[in-house]
Amino acid sequence: MLTKKGIAVSPGVVICCAVVLDAQDVAVPRRTISPKAVPAELERLAQALADSRQDIEKLRDQAIASVGADLAKIFDAHLAMLADPSMMTQIHQAIENEYVTAEFAAYSVMRRVAKVFKDQENRYLQERATDIYDLERRLLGHLIGHSEESLNQLDAQAILVAHNLTPSQTASLDKTKIMGIATDLGGRTSHTAILAHALGIPAVVGLEDMTSSVNTGDMLILDGNRGQAIIEPNAEHLLNYREFKRQQDAFEHTLDELQTLPATTVDGTEIALLANIEFPDEIDPALAKGAVGIGLYRTEFIYLASDTEPSEEEQYEAYSKAIGLLEGRPLTFRTLDLGADKVWNKGNLDHVERNPFLGCRSIRLCLQNLPVFKTQLRALLRASVHGPIRIMFPLISNIMELRQAKMVLADVMEDLEDQEIEFSSDIPVGIMIEVPSAAIQSAVFAQEVDFFSIGTNDLIQYTVAVDRGNERIANLYSAAHPAVIQLIRDVVRVANRTKTEVSLCGEMGGEPEFTMLLLGLGLRHLSITPPAIPEVKQIIRSVSIEKCRRVAHKVASYETEHQVLNYLRTEVRRVLPDRASGSS
Ligand code: PEP
Ligand code: MG
Repeated sequence: MLTKKGIAVSPGVVICCAVVLDAQDVAVPRRTISPKAVPAELERLAQALADSRQDIEKLRDQAIASVGADLAKIFDAHLAMLADPSMMTQIHQAIENEYVTAEFAAYSVMRRVAKVFKDQENRYLQERATDIYDLERRLLGHLIGHSEESLNQLDAQAILVAHNLTPSQTASLDKTKIMGIATDLGGRTSHTAILAHALGIPAVVGLEDMTSSVNTGDMLILDGNRGQAIIEPNAEHLLNYREFKRQQDAFEHTLDELQTLPATTVDGTEIALLANIEFPDEIDPALAKGAVGIGLYRTEFIYLASDTEPSEEEQYEAYSKAIGLLEGRPLTFRTLDLGADKVWNKGNLDHVERNPFLGCRSIRLCLQNLPVFKTQLRALLRASVHGPIRIMFPLISNIMELRQAKMVLADVMEDLEDQEIEFSSDIPVGIMIEVPSAAIQSAVFAQEVDFFSIGTNDLIQYTVAVDRGNERIANLYSAAHPAVIQLIRDVVRVANRTKTEVSLCGEMGGEPEFTMLLLGLGLRHLSITPPAIPEVKQIIRSVSIEKCRRVAHKVASYETEHQVLNYLRTEVRRVLPDRASGSS
């Protein structure tokens, strides 16, 4: 039995077998086999080589179609390396003479060969090391990990263990089979974490070397509340966890009863609890959890879940579907927020950047790719005839960017008018406040927008200079940082003074510890991940605004995030003494 600690990002406990996705860049442990097992091991290797060859041939054909035969030659080079007799002989010999597994033989030989290339003076030869690593990952993927495609054909439920998952990988998982997610990398508000939470899949990220400690088929307890994974648990642990899971289910059941009750404080202030979604299919479950509308529709997931560029028609269909499902309830569409960790690499929108979180992402990417941006805006405007919508631009960092985005919107409206295509001309336009410059200049922005939505996920990372997806510095990423709270306080004050509607749509809004503080700072609209709605509502219904103001006042006197967090946790325990223990 082995316990690994990570970062809890989506609550819930799962007890199930592991399935390991891709070996990626992890060390393969040396495991030996009996001499009798050698033929079977050689057969596994042959099969994995054949599968890898097939993958590469497919990639080569795709590349010929998309980038031309010249660039596609790289795949011919990969095929030649895979057939290299000297490397293959060494792998075979390791299996036959040292009795090691095929994966260890391939891993150790290929690493050795890559090192020889890496140590060369000649740049061209040095770069061949990258090709060997790439081949190694592909081969190991077939030997010990499931490839993405085969993940979708799992015949039993499993906990997915991966080095890292991209948001698009997460979005395309089969939710009926994947019961939990455990990754080596990742932080609390990485998009993979957000998606897992939204999908209700318990998840722990930042487990560091999880993929090299667990094999497909191992029994796992994944604890998404405490942020730990127990590999091959003993009987006592299994018993304890089954009991904990039972208590938790019972607690959730009591929360379900809140769904139809209003989110009103004890002194009668109504709070709008809206939901964050990525796909229209999340709308019905969000309404069932008690959401009164959608405060953040992350439209970039239409791209992330698609192999080809979504057409205007496809986008129009998705947006119209969402509007129809909401039957007149509020719906805020955020325009494409691609880039950084939300890379869509099936077209030509992604570029390798040294600092992707500070790079050409989000509204910047849209303003540099006007046809893509205009296609989306056309689809949104056309869909606006079906019900009330609002449009929100992400990552605005200066006023000129906002003006440019609004100009593009006006251009698209003009085109539609010229073509006599109907749309609503009365669409509120707002911005995410998620860059410190926008927070600081909120009074300037307030003159030119209808609403603000504070995106704390990015606001935190840019305020405290901590990559939201980096597990190594996850302890420095905190919504309780006094500087972050100060920025939120300032933005809400400006919004109230200028009568600009303000909401908050970062993960912070769904964390019960922060509910009193946010109400005390003056927020009356929160857009949160649907599973968090009942618990946040329970707190709202248990407190007065006066009490929340006192909490916010007290928080303003603290200098460190630890003081803030300790205080807020104590206050939540006072308000809800029965809250399930061990909650994240
Ligand atoms: C945010 O940054 O707080 C936000 C809500 O947007 P995203 O998590 O998609 O970046
Ligand atoms: Mg953001």
